[in-house]
Amino acid sequence: MTHRKPHLPVKHCEVCGRPFAWRKKWEKVWAEVRYCSDLCRRQARATRRAPGQN
Ligand SMILES: [Zn+2]
Repeated sequence: MTHRKPHLPVKHCEVCGRPFAWRKKWEKVWAEVRYCSDLCRRQARATRRAPGQN
């Protein structure tokens, strides 16, 4: 284990359940990020029946 890994925070996507690491594009919204990708985010919104939430 000599690989050097950056110490990035990791979360698990609420849709696909996969872990995903911090990305530059999330630096300002990381606390609110719940999905690994726009695709999953769309999935979550499509699955949720509650409209009007952004
Ligand atoms: Zn996902």
